[in-house]
Amino acid sequence: MHLYGTQSINEKGHLTIGGVDTVDLAAQYGTPLFVYDIALFRERAQAFQQTFQNEQVGYQVAYASKAFSGIAIYQVAAQEGLSLDVVSGGELYTAIQSGYPKEKIHFHGNNKSQAEIDMAFDEEIGCIVVDNFHEIDLLKKTAERRQQRMKILLRVTPGIEAHTHDYITTGQEDSKFGFDLNNGQADRAFEETHAHEFLDLIGLHCHIGSQIFDTAAFQMASEKLLLKMAAWQQNHSYTCTVLNLGGGFGIRYTEEDAPLEPAVYVKDMIRTVKTASEGAGFPVPEIWIEPGRSLIGDAGTTLYTVGSTKDVPDTRRYAAVDGGMSDNIRPALYGAKYSSLLANRAQEQAGQVYTIAGKCCESGDKLIEEAELPEVTAGDILAVFCTGAYGYSMASNYNRITRPAVVFAEGGKHQLVIRRESFEDLIKNEVGYMQEGAKR
Ligand SMILES: *Cc1c(COP(=O)(O)O)cnc(C)c1O
Repeated sequence: MHLYGTQSINEKGHLTIGGVDTVDLAAQYGTPLFVYDIALFRERAQAFQQTFQNEQVGYQVAYASKAFSGIAIYQVAAQEGLSLDVVSGGELYTAIQSGYPKEKIHFHGNNKSQAEIDMAFDEEIGCIVVDNFHEIDLLKKTAERRQQRMKILLRVTPGIEAHTHDYITTGQEDSKFGFDLNNGQADRAFEETHAHEFLDLIGLHCHIGSQIFDTAAFQMASEKLLLKMAAWQQNHSYTCTVLNLGGGFGIRYTEEDAPLEPAVYVKDMIRTVKTASEGAGFPVPEIWIEPGRSLIGDAGTTLYTVGSTKDVPDTRRYAAVDGGMSDNIRPALYGAKYSSLLANRAQEQAGQVYTIAGKCCESGDKLIEEAELPEVTAGDILAVFCTGAYGYSMASNYNRITRPAVVFAEGGKHQLVIRRESFEDLIKNEVGYMQEGAKR
């Protein structure tokens, strides 16, 4: 059994998070319930930032908030001094509503609308990460019309694709994101932006993948981007000061995963950038990173109540829970794996193997293929670990299932931060249909 962050098991044999009994949380708030270990989020945020401080380089650590977006977590991120990545008008609106320091907000996305771009200018956010030529055009026109400056980074694809355990390098990357670094697109984007009266090109950005477990791909990407910035300085006497290397640092979902400490990724990155800068005679840039999953992923646990169980003789035992792909689509979407524990009987020996099924009308709605648990019965509380990233934020109302509540637990206290949706919420935007001329 592997426990995360502040998790422990109390004298009743119940799982606790942030010093709070999860069985009590399930009773008070109902299930499914997302419980976040806020001390763990803070610890991760500090670990990333402390490493940069120790290595004495300029930096920003931006929380990639698509992993879990909401006012409460934005408030915590701001307290911890993080910058914030948003990828849509909706995330930007939420950030503004949370009171986030506007200059620390970075706006991403491969198809920002005119309305979203205007919103970024209205709010005078920190920077826009520019993805494509259409966007350059929109940005120039917007900035000129408004006579307003905006800082920008160019997102490039360096031809390095990192996956969990390995990476591939390609001359050209087949990605919907960013300017290709190898075929001249990035140079053209530089030429179109660096001398613009209102656009202030401050650097380059790349995001090479997710759930990455080693440092090699980050090294290659940082070298490539740095050499490009050095070349622009040589050829155009224009110095970019920011190198944004994105997110993607891996976490431990199951015992198959062996992530590095946040500090290890960052230290390695910084040293590579320093060495490459020295070699190219280029001033060491500020290094920005954008962790999502590695800040919030294992801080989140979902509590479910077990209902029906089913034996398929000689094949499989199913245990069904009161949520599923509506609150965690990752297993159905890309075969993501999770580990679990019976929160109300956390010390009992696991002697059975269950497939944990959701309650949605889809055969593929399974949360865990093989969960080792004690004999489970209806009413047991199942804790599924590491659901903090891309769980709630990808939740849907499929089958008209209401989205769960979210609770923050910290220092022995707990607080509801997102209410459970109600049935009324499900129809709040519905106006019905009355056919023209039809009799009532
Ligand atoms: C999704 C994303 C991240 C965060 O990725 P994680 O794997 O959650 O760390 C960072 N930067 C960009 C541009 C992203 O799209």
